[in-house]
Amino acid sequence: MTLIDGKKIAKEIRFELKEKVFDLRQKYGTVPGLAAVLVGENPASQVYVRMKQRACEEVGIYSVVEKLPAETSEEDLISLIERFNSDKKINGILVQLPLPEHISENKIIETISPSKDVDGFHPVNMGNLVIGKETFYPCTPYGILELLKRYRIETKGKHVVVVGRSNIVGKPVANMLLQKKEGANAIVTVCHSAAKDLKKYTATADILIAAIGRPKFITADMVKDGVVIIDVGINRVEDKSTEKGYKLVGDVDFEEVSRKASFITPVPGGVGPMTIAMLLQNTYESFIKSLNL
Ligand code: NDP
Repeated sequence: MTLIDGKKIAKEIRFELKEKVFDLRQKYGTVPGLAAVLVGENPASQVYVRMKQRACEEVGIYSVVEKLPAETSEEDLISLIERFNSDKKINGILVQLPLPEHISENKIIETISPSKDVDGFHPVNMGNLVIGKETFYPCTPYGILELLKRYRIETKGKHVVVVGRSNIVGKPVANMLLQKKEGANAIVTVCHSAAKDLKKYTATADILIAAIGRPKFITADMVKDGVVIIDVGINRVEDKSTEKGYKLVGDVDFEEVSRKASFITPVPGGVGPMTIAMLLQNTYESFIKSLNL
């Protein structure tokens, strides 16, 4: 069994980007820029935004973080995004989700210019993804494809079973793997909570992608020998032996399933670190596109 080390790969990607950003500075006297917008005090969102900002600093990407109070109006948030849309120093805009209830997430996502939508959530980019046109891939699915590529895991003609159909993970990763392209070209099945006998599908997977949000939900009896496991889930479970009183586990029962798997991502340290690395990658790609070379 090979452990897919997302932490290591994410570090490699950041290192590669650091060199590329350095070259851009030498050549053009400027670097890619990312604007992050955080509305409210959600502690997890604060941590994510801080991590993204730190990652930008590490690779030399210019970053701006706008922290707005929870009672910010939808109109004010829209005005801020419009300002970033026309700011030449900004190549990527991300609005940290979830937003307070009085703000429509869809409206906000649709305000971001598709050319700066480095989260890849805008309907234009999602549509381009489905029809196989060049676009921004959502960061977590992009990270999954990158892990498969860098571990030379064949996807062509393989049966990929995705459990979960969210707009940020399940649907985009399924559509990306379906494309008639290198690093994809898979036979894809997507499962969700209406599946009556989930095991019937998961047991036929060559590659199983779990994006469910339920701790240790995928058990050894649900997969075949030699399966490749990509565990997207991040779940807190109580653990009194740790300082924080909890630990993070995936959607897959790692201990049991890893005995049958040929490759498996751990949680933490698997898919998680890739998400931010691919956000930086998208920001870099957006800058390159803006040069119109
Ligand atoms: P959502 O809650 O949006 O979606 C969960 C999906 O799982 C839904 O499609 C749901 O089906 C399906 N599901 C729930 N229960 C079952 C069941 N019993 N059988 C089959 N399918 C089921 O979650 P996300 O996609 O946003 O996230 C999934 C997990 O990945 C979470 O743990 C999240 O924290 C983590 N995550 C990790 C990221 C990373 O960077 N590594 C990034 C994003 C998410 P239905 O549609 O029918 O409700």
